[in-house]
Amino acid sequence: MAEKRTTGEWQALDRAHHMHPFTDSKTLAARGTRVITRAEGVYVYDNEGNKILDGMAGLWCVAVGYGRRELVDAATRQLLDLPYYNSFFQTSTPTQIELAQKLSELTPPGLKHFFFANSGSEANDTIIRLARLYWSLMGKPNKRTFIGRTWGYHGSTVAASSLGGMPAMHTQDGKNLPEFAHISHPHWYLRGGDLSREEFGIQAARELETKILELGPENVAAFIGEPVQGAGGVIDPPMTYWPEIQRICRKYDVLLVADEVICGFGRLGHWFGSEMYDIKPDFMPMAKGLSSGYLPIAASAIHERIFEVINDKAGMVHHGYTYSGHPAACAVALANIELIKKEEIIERVRHDTAPYFRKAMEQVTNGHPIVGELRGVGLLAGFQLVKDKAKRTVFAPEQEVGIRCREFATQNNLIMRPLGQSTVVLSPPLVISHSEIDELADKVKRSLDATAKLFGFA
Ligand SMILES: *Cc1c(COP(=O)(O)O)cnc(C)c1O
Repeated sequence: MAEKRTTGEWQALDRAHHMHPFTDSKTLAARGTRVITRAEGVYVYDNEGNKILDGMAGLWCVAVGYGRRELVDAATRQLLDLPYYNSFFQTSTPTQIELAQKLSELTPPGLKHFFFANSGSEANDTIIRLARLYWSLMGKPNKRTFIGRTWGYHGSTVAASSLGGMPAMHTQDGKNLPEFAHISHPHWYLRGGDLSREEFGIQAARELETKILELGPENVAAFIGEPVQGAGGVIDPPMTYWPEIQRICRKYDVLLVADEVICGFGRLGHWFGSEMYDIKPDFMPMAKGLSSGYLPIAASAIHERIFEVINDKAGMVHHGYTYSGHPAACAVALANIELIKKEEIIERVRHDTAPYFRKAMEQVTNGHPIVGELRGVGLLAGFQLVKDKAKRTVFAPEQEVGIRCREFATQNNLIMRPLGQSTVVLSPPLVISHSEIDELADKVKRSLDATAKLFGFA
């Protein structure tokens, strides 16, 4: 256990020794880190004792909420029985086997094998390797290029960030890896012009066909997309988008990867986003909601037709992680899935909480001077902040409108996050109650009102 220290002491030590992910160290050092010490339900508490409503479920992951004994007990029991053993040497541990079997019941048809990792990034790295291996075993070794989307997010390893289309990550790295290409994100509000959502969905999907033809189908391994783009600013595609993407993938023999790291495990009111959008993926990475973030674990689901080729022809597959299928993380994931089932959390999200959440957020945003569009499905919301509604003009990045809004949210003891283009997002724990949603809506309203005032709207 960490010692008790004052917030100032923690901040000094943090400044001296801790480098944070996705952080401007200088700004952080000047203002001092916030120290979160405990959590319960949908609230986190800082070292000063402030009770903060976690509108982001950690980083999209704490699906079942904080403080669930079932998950803690599962980890404790497993750590006592067998804290670690690997699965490299023709060995397995029971929780790995059970989790793989359980996932095969929950995922879309045809996904029967699961490769474990510790993060969404690693799960995507696994898929890059396996997809290229598959094509090479099929006698098409040139099919290596992955096509992703602008503002897509697939993780932060060198390969996963190349799959993604986060402009700042690519700019800072200077050069993307070769054999990764991108098409535009299906953001109707900003890109749709005079088209209806449905028309725009088709047009956005057709970019994939153009890109495949440009690269040559004989060079394209796979297309990857999040069913709903999360880190890009909660971009839910028109319903016409995924059917057209799938038609194009089949036409050109391009594999389809549905990145379910955010959408999986109930976020959209279904076990997976692929169910909601009727996506039939060849590979499906999952992470965040898989263990509700209690321990790090990820999995890549592999379609039978891919697995069988690799199984028949590859021999040894030279890939894996020391902690692939960590026994305690698998035990926590199993307990998490059991809890989601027992408490019918996904049914509740679909039929009750998500509609209630949507209505509450609509009440906040309808006619709001700074909100051009409210996006989202299930328990995801994206608030598109605009300078000019008629022209759908967003704020310039240097105006940092999202960051200002987050600062107001922080003052209101609410965690919400600026992401994508002039957008703030919410992704609360799936167990959030009606009264907590009311509180959330009230805090969001105060934060948006203050942001609008700061930017000169009455
Ligand atoms: C967070 C995320 C990842 C990366 O997961 P890590 O565990 O942070 O590596 C991949 N894909 C999507 C869609 C994500 O949101």
